Amino acid sequence: MNDDAQQTDRRDFLQHSILGAAGAGLAIASATNVTVGAETEQPQESAFPTDGDITNKVDVLVIGGGTAGAIAAIQAGRAGAKTLLLERNSQLGGTATTGGVAFPGLFDAWGKQVIAGIGWELVRDSVELDGGTLPDFSKVPQRHWHNQVHVNQFLYALLAEEKCEAAGVQIAYYEFPQAVTQTAQGWQVDCVGFGTQRRVLCKQIIDCTGGAEVVGLLKLPRLREQERQPGSMLFQLGKANNPGRAQLHALYVHGADSTNSRTVTAANLTGRQAILKKVRNGKSRLMHMQPETGFRESDRIVGETMITVNDYTSGRLFDDAVCHAFYPVDLHTKSGVRPKPLKAGTVPTIPLRALIPKNSRNIIVAGRSVCSDRLANSGLRVQASCMGMGQAAGAAAALAAKNGTTPLKVPLTEIHSLLREHGAIIPGEA
Ligand SMILES: Cc1cc2nc3c(=O)[nH]c(=O)nc-3n(C[C@H](O)[C@H](O)[C@H](O)COP(=O)(O)OP(=O)(O)OC[C@H]3O[C@@H](n4cnc5c(N)ncnc54)[C@H](O)[C@@H]3O)c2cc1C
Repeated sequence: MNDDAQQTDRRDFLQHSILGAAGAGLAIASATNVTVGAETEQPQESAFPTDGDITNKVDVLVIGGGTAGAIAAIQAGRAGAKTLLLERNSQLGGTATTGGVAFPGLFDAWGKQVIAGIGWELVRDSVELDGGTLPDFSKVPQRHWHNQVHVNQFLYALLAEEKCEAAGVQIAYYEFPQAVTQTAQGWQVDCVGFGTQRRVLCKQIIDCTGGAEVVGLLKLPRLREQERQPGSMLFQLGKANNPGRAQLHALYVHGADSTNSRTVTAANLTGRQAILKKVRNGKSRLMHMQPETGFRESDRIVGETMITVNDYTSGRLFDDAVCHAFYPVDLHTKSGVRPKPLKAGTVPTIPLRALIPKNSRNIIVAGRSVCSDRLANSGLRVQASCMGMGQAAGAAAALAAKNGTTPLKVPLTEIHSLLREHGAIIPGEA
């Protein structure tokens, strides 16, 4: 049991009604729906705590240890915040590891690096430990994907874990939140894993679940497409998997939906059946298969501001920009994908306000669920941008916890200065 585990009577904590879930009036492209989560009854009083249950009191709780979340947690931990990282799967990295999309990009644009910091450190260290090769960012590639970095997904997961531990981040695998309640000090988050329950009392939440699941639990509005981009199941037929050197094969899983365990189960069954069919038809040996479908598109938050495709393609420098993003507009459909490269010299930015759910306090989001319209999201959902957002969210949350305020109230200069100290590139300064 953690040193700080303590039994706490839930009556000690003020329970406030959850923040205004208004916002449904927002004008969004016609195929985008705004949802405020399924109507559920108030969580039932459970017999908590019982043997094996614990309570943690932390500054920052990061939920989702994927591409953005692992970086957010390392940043918060390195900034001195007591940090707990909750991940429902068995390893860190999310889509980069469990999904098998082990080719993060893009860290560079137009001949120079535009995203660095903790995400880049993790990618670079993975490649170096694996004896691999890093792209030369001083050269503008013919095709955008030439500068994606091939990482060994297994080493990446191991190093992410090591860096979390070195930063003092406590990791809790196989757990996810069930109920989130606002308190006078921040939040009470009741989580379950198999055979255990955990109550987390924290000042700040960082939602890095990919689908803004904590925002959904709070019944704050989210954006949802009627038809989402296909997911993909990654595998290898005929020859051995060569991690860090070659990409896996991928097949589209149409209708893939990361919303809940039932929809993820359905996507996995569909993807695996298709792979089985390929094995039978091709008479090739199945040499590798990822355990879970990779999801390109999930729910996105309704934030304090929205990144539109015009902001994205014009490279708008937001006045509260915290990191860059760089990738073509890249919308996958039933008939495939035709990436639309950005115009020469364009480097989009991500504002802090797009990471903050509208009308909320003490919660910040990072990763592909950033507030953006569908086309902007198709470009800025890639891994380097998610890592940049994760680091920015980790810095903002750690400072907010330290200053006893909410991320939006932390002076931007303080966030920039902390990010700079941890190797990040600040838009407008590069
Ligand atoms: C097939 C495919 C190809 C792609 N190609 C590229 C590419 O070439 N280059 C590139 O850079 N990007 C690519 N992307 C995009 C990129 O990989 C993802 O958009 C990005 O990794 C998303 O990062 P994230 O942190 O938002 O989510 P994720 O990395 O998916 O992390 C979310 C994490 O949260 C966890 N989680 C979810 N819900 C809960 C919960 N309730 N409680 C606890 N934990 C939870 C999940 O288990 C996961 O670990 C691709 C994506 C796909 C699917």
